[in-house]
Amino acid sequence: MRPEVLYPLFADLSSLKGMGPKTLKYMENLLGGRRIIDLLFHLPTNIIDRSYRPKLQNAVAGKICTVKVKVVEHIPPKKRQQPYRVIVEDDTEQLTLIFFKVYADSILKNLPVGASKIISGKLERFNNQLQMAHPDFILNESDAAEIPEIEPVYPLTAGITNKMLEKFMVQALKKVPELPEWLDEQFIKEKGWPNFKNALLKAHHPNTINDLQPFAKERARLAYDELLANQLTLGIVREERKKIKGKSISGDGRLRQKIVEQLPFKLTEAQEKVLQEIYTDQASEYKMMRLLQGDVGSGKTIVALLAMLNTVEVKGQAALMAPTEILAQQHYETIAPMTETIGVKTALLTGKTKAKERKQILNDLADGKIDIIIGTHALFQNEVIYHNLNLAIVDEQHRFGVQQRLKLSQKGINVDVLVMTATPIPRTLVLSAYGDMDCSVIDKLPEGRKPVDTRVIPLTKLSEVIRGLEKQINDGIMAYWVCPLVEESEKSDLAAAEARFADLQQIFGDKIGLVHGKMKEAEKNEVMNRFKNGELRLLVATTVIEVGVNVPQATLMLIEHAERFGLAQLHQLRGRVKRGNQQAICLLMYGGHLSETAYERLNIMKQTEDGFVIAEKDLELRGGGEILGTRQSGLEDFHLANMDYHRHLLLVAHKDTQLIINKDKLLQSKRGQALRTLLYLFDKDESVQNYQA
Ligand code: ADP
Ligand code: MG
Repeated sequence: MRPEVLYPLFADLSSLKGMGPKTLKYMENLLGGRRIIDLLFHLPTNIIDRSYRPKLQNAVAGKICTVKVKVVEHIPPKKRQQPYRVIVEDDTEQLTLIFFKVYADSILKNLPVGASKIISGKLERFNNQLQMAHPDFILNESDAAEIPEIEPVYPLTAGITNKMLEKFMVQALKKVPELPEWLDEQFIKEKGWPNFKNALLKAHHPNTINDLQPFAKERARLAYDELLANQLTLGIVREERKKIKGKSISGDGRLRQKIVEQLPFKLTEAQEKVLQEIYTDQASEYKMMRLLQGDVGSGKTIVALLAMLNTVEVKGQAALMAPTEILAQQHYETIAPMTETIGVKTALLTGKTKAKERKQILNDLADGKIDIIIGTHALFQNEVIYHNLNLAIVDEQHRFGVQQRLKLSQKGINVDVLVMTATPIPRTLVLSAYGDMDCSVIDKLPEGRKPVDTRVIPLTKLSEVIRGLEKQINDGIMAYWVCPLVEESEKSDLAAAEARFADLQQIFGDKIGLVHGKMKEAEKNEVMNRFKNGELRLLVATTVIEVGVNVPQATLMLIEHAERFGLAQLHQLRGRVKRGNQQAICLLMYGGHLSETAYERLNIMKQTEDGFVIAEKDLELRGGGEILGTRQSGLEDFHLANMDYHRHLLLVAHKDTQLIINKDKLLQSKRGQALRTLLYLFDKDESVQNYQA
């Protein structure tokens, strides 16, 4: 149960003064939540300095000024379009306040002639006259303290002004209790960090721009708290799982041997190594929860198949789940012919499977007649009952959160879980997203793959490139043409792709196809299939060429406006043409003038094909803030921590967690108790609710 001391922070935002239902809606949009804590974790990103308090005569135009003035005269507009003016003065000069579209009544009330007022806003000088349009503050002298010297500026949304947010924040900050310290005292001392409460208060009251930096002590402290909560949760989930007894599975190898003998290649050392790791997990009496990372083309499919056969050898079942129908189909087409030769029954179950066939499959699954089932999410619907499911493999699913993993393994009580991803994930991010899992990496591609000939070309050379492409296609090459991301909307994305498609169709006629995200799955499949069987030679696509789509004959990839893609994305796209052993070509076409980071990104693509190197570089180069779609990894869900800056803190939190778990697994010491509060503070209660003291 949540500690009582936290109750005020988890109260509903509607308990704040001035929070009507409409405002609450907007706040929810802004914060993604409607509790006090959600508001408190919304940190300012800028400041307005109101400490400049000059005499009007000396005031520098263009600056935010706070001045004490006396109201002299009102000049209502003569025509409708004109603003309402109010003349005020201090003992040195006059200043005209300007109001557009404001009720005269309210101005008269706020600024009665003769009154003394403190106003604050941006001062301008026109024709040697001082003006201020819509002052930010107009207060009586007695309330002057309400004007902050330094005003925090928050990210906003429609319906919420900074002033509103500040007012709510003042109320919310009053509710922050003193909390027990969950960090190691010595550690805090070394870092010079404030306690949680002071860190939060200070984070909302920055004095200088420096206080907003990720490395400001308050910000670092809060980021660390969040990262520690993340690591500790994953650590606990991991410990908990280690307690779950699973089945100990180790087949006699007869099926696996037959398959390996059939392969036209030898397994690589890297494949052998991860297989041993997986077999060891399967043999152990504890449940497997393993992440298998391997770059595109590293040969994960055969690894998955062998792990599944290990289970089939002891009469167990295995399920392989892909994120899309195309990918499920593809896996089925690769795997079924192999298993057929060794008397293992493999079936495909997706949302598209016809009712009658589906019924048959469900029956056979329940009877244990099917050994291996391949499919989409359909595999884990409630009505799917397994005879003896031992192993669940999830392919290419980089958006698979810890909650989903928990759910998946709850499905069959003793099921071993293997998650495969082709997105090389930097180590730090693995820790933050998959810290509860064991991790295997196929770190080398099979020998003999030719490197992709990657070229960086300006879009001004487009017509030459198209001429070259025409020739290539006449020579029998198959190619992808990826159209750029357009930030504003998917619509314009599509428009750009359609326009490009229409252009190219003039040249390539019926050899060209178009796929995009707005198409129905069936339509998309149809085009993909025509490309696969060679009927189409050039495939124009918006960013989503499905991860993992395998058309070995396609050896050329052209990416338009490559500078708009994230590195990881470019790498994934290039991987599409790296399948066969023919020479593949990747053309990265860029438009306009390249910034330094954009240039560096494209250059890295030229220099290396190592997905892990690329992923690390991607993370390093991000700060630039110009990359679209870099959050694609879907790995990050932090409010206070930012992986672009706080990665090193994640490593510290990881170490810290190991110490905590070694020393005080049940969180019973004084610090352990405080750490529980931390977990609740960051909403980790769900993951640890089974965690009995
Ligand atoms: P991914 O890891 O991207 O899923 P796949 O399993 O689809 O990769 O393998 C890519 C290609 O490499 C396939 O054609 C597969 O048959 C081949 N392959 C897998 N392992 C090896 C190996 N050890 N040596 C040579 N080719 C291999
Ligand atoms: Mg694959």
